[in-house]
Amino acid sequence: MALELTEEQRQIKESVARLCARFGDDYWLARDTDGEFPEEFCKAIADEGWMGIAMPEEYGGSGLGITEAATMVQAITESGAANAGFAAIAINIFGLNPVVVFGTDEQKQKWLPRIISREDVACFSVTEPNTGLDTTRLKTKAVWDGECYRVHGQKIWTSTALRANKVLLIARTKEDTEKPIDGLSLFYTDLDRNYAEIRPIDKMGRKCVDSNQVFFDGMPIPKEDLIGEEGKGFRYLLHGLNAERILIAASMVGLGRCALKRGADYAREREVFGRPIGMNQSIQHPLAESWAELEAANLMAYNAAHKYDSGQECGLEANAAKYLAAEAAHKSCTTAVMTHGGMGYAKEYHVERYLRECMIHRLAPISPQLILSYLAERALDLPKSY
Ligand SMILES: Cc1cc2nc3c(=O)[nH]c(=O)nc-3n(C[C@H](O)[C@H](O)[C@H](O)COP(=O)(O)OP(=O)(O)OC[C@H]3O[C@@H](n4cnc5c(N)ncnc54)[C@H](O)[C@@H]3O)c2cc1C
Repeated sequence: MALELTEEQRQIKESVARLCARFGDDYWLARDTDGEFPEEFCKAIADEGWMGIAMPEEYGGSGLGITEAATMVQAITESGAANAGFAAIAINIFGLNPVVVFGTDEQKQKWLPRIISREDVACFSVTEPNTGLDTTRLKTKAVWDGECYRVHGQKIWTSTALRANKVLLIARTKEDTEKPIDGLSLFYTDLDRNYAEIRPIDKMGRKCVDSNQVFFDGMPIPKEDLIGEEGKGFRYLLHGLNAERILIAASMVGLGRCALKRGADYAREREVFGRPIGMNQSIQHPLAESWAELEAANLMAYNAAHKYDSGQECGLEANAAKYLAAEAAHKSCTTAVMTHGGMGYAKEYHVERYLRECMIHRLAPISPQLILSYLAERALDLPKSY
């Protein structure tokens, strides 16, 4: 396992950090206030060729691994772009992995170059209001009517749907299969607003990257937009989960580091009782603990990435990394707010925004409870509890 970044990875980190420096804290604070989608930022990422970092070269990508993609997303969140910067581009970076792995050559030719160049904007629609984390029970249906599939049902939390012209959608194509998972199919298709009503959810943070309820009422999907075989869609999604966990973990370490730096900077500068508050151990220790926890989570994330890129099983490490990084980032953001005292609550110091945004990946796409249940079952051979 490589513990240090390679020269290439260091260059990725520096180049992405340079790009992100053009979009400083004031840019993200303004987007958090006005809720405008950070399109200039996405365009800059696409123009410099970063969207396709982990996509195959033959379709316009760079053909690099999850380790390099993790390095890139970490540089984004660490810059102060926080979860908004990551979420704005996440689906372009890795979301179309099921197409890369299970799509036909024709589908890849048609879809991948356009997502890499950002001519297409996609969203990812899995979660439903009435099934929650029990995702194999999804109810949205795609029924074949002789000419096309017709989608009926409701999704929730679909991020970036307001801007998207494409949707990666999972829906039930067959009822009453022995295992519910076997009735689910995966599509990448046009998000046709004549048949899909999109209602934004007013949420705690990341105002500029929308998350939505989507109501499908007979949306047509042509046969050629089915990915792989009918009934295998959920298994295709599972294939990409470890990589998604790794990228989220890396992004959370970046966000945690960013908050920690602000906390330490403030602790050095702020004087109360005639000395810097950072001279007090009760201020130092939580910051130091956060440093240790973030760097430990980072090692787990890079260990998982190394295993993923070298074709090894990495479910335990990827899940552990997501869990550790999300918890460490949350502690780091909370500590940064507390270190700022009352000013931690003021928007101009940014740490309250980091704290609001870091909550997202504690909750989603999988909760700490379910990760711990997974680890208990897979690492400790305890009975399955969900
Ligand atoms: C900002 C944001 C953006 C999102 N973007 C997307 C997106 O783009 N696309 C998409 O498809 N989804 C998206 N999601 C949805 C997200 O993936 C889900 O919210 C998440 O999977 C949790 O599902 P749920 O909210 O239905 O929670 P529930 O399933 O209702 O769970 C609620 C709580 O109960 C706990 N719980 C449930 N069952 C058990 C059990 N057996 N044992 C222990 N605890 C249990 C959970 O851990 C959780 O704490 C987003 C969510 C947010 C907040």
